[in-house]
Amino acid sequence: MQPRHLYVHVPFCARRCTYCDFAIAVRRVVPVDDYLAALDAELRLRFAASTDWALDTLYFGGGTPSRLGGEGIARAIGSIRRIATLASDAEVTIEANPEDVTPAAARAWRDAGVNRVSLGVQSFDDETLRWMHRVHDAARAERALGELRAAGIDNVSIDLIFALPDEVTTRSWERDLERAVALAPPHVSLYGLTVEPHTPLGKSLAVGGVTEAGEERYERDFLLAHEMMTAAGLEHYEVSNFGRAGLHSRHNSAYWRSVPYAGLGPGAHELRVDGERMVRRWNDDVYVRWAEALSEGRDPIGGDEVLTGENRIAEAVYLGLRSTAGLSVRGEERDRLAAWVAAGWGTLHDDALDDALDGSRESAATGLIFRATALGWLRLDALAADLTAFRSR
Ligand code: SF4
Repeated sequence: MQPRHLYVHVPFCARRCTYCDFAIAVRRVVPVDDYLAALDAELRLRFAASTDWALDTLYFGGGTPSRLGGEGIARAIGSIRRIATLASDAEVTIEANPEDVTPAAARAWRDAGVNRVSLGVQSFDDETLRWMHRVHDAARAERALGELRAAGIDNVSIDLIFALPDEVTTRSWERDLERAVALAPPHVSLYGLTVEPHTPLGKSLAVGGVTEAGEERYERDFLLAHEMMTAAGLEHYEVSNFGRAGLHSRHNSAYWRSVPYAGLGPGAHELRVDGERMVRRWNDDVYVRWAEALSEGRDPIGGDEVLTGENRIAEAVYLGLRSTAGLSVRGEERDRLAAWVAAGWGTLHDDALDDALDGSRESAATGLIFRATALGWLRLDALAADLTAFRSR
């Protein structure tokens, strides 16, 4: 059975942001035709034999997919539609940077079927945006949101970065959150800055140019976002994501449930089920090598691995803890998790009982579910490691 979720990686960026360690392709002029030809070739090479391939979600991530422009995205979706069918209510997302959003591009995206945009705002402070080496300023970000809405794309997620170095003095996280709330987006994604050594920021850190935000600062920023976003009516439904009911990211939720998904484009990962096995595969992450392989009729695979029993336990625990879908509790874990509840790191729910009491669903006897709180999410890695070790005994 084919996966019902498809990720397409578009690697191009106008320039590298100071903190970015993604495998991107910096291009002043994007080779739209070459990229689309390679994407089409990958679809035909790897998925042409698929019959009745139906997709519930399609997600263009990057890099910066919006650099393909209105027509480029429309042509990419056209290629996909020749091989797969998009469900009538499919969620179709593109990541966009504000400087690429124009009224014409927004209309072209909407006409091609895009109904959700993840907008890389990052901050509303112009000085901070310059420090990040972003192309846009705050006014451009707000205009982009208006242009998307005017084109009929209301489901816009605003991306923001927190835990910046103390040297970035003009940025007030609280002010940024207030501005985000004032724009009433149905979804917000947060990224806690981590400094990778080979990025411009990492190099600056190495010579004492900046200091990394400490743990206390990270926690304060994270909890302030939790407080302000939930007060504004957004559910904190995953460690880094807030959304209105019914507007949580369906594509990302599939990742968090370990549902199989396909991936196209340089560096794209996918997860498939092969009999009893779960296999993760990924493409070569260098754009020119990926495109060259396809121009020669070769699979651009970068590698694959069969998930071991231990991998699967670790993944199930980590994914269960990171979203409010929660983690099914095993009998022998009750005491351990009850201690976490007492510490304020999560809550325990008897979903079978809840279902029976409210009568809204059939009692599915799902048993006890642990759901992490914001305080628990601050310790996500440690809690996941502890429970994985316990389950793997
Ligand atoms: S826009 Fe995103 S992917 Fe591109 S350089 Fe900046 S952070 Fe990296």
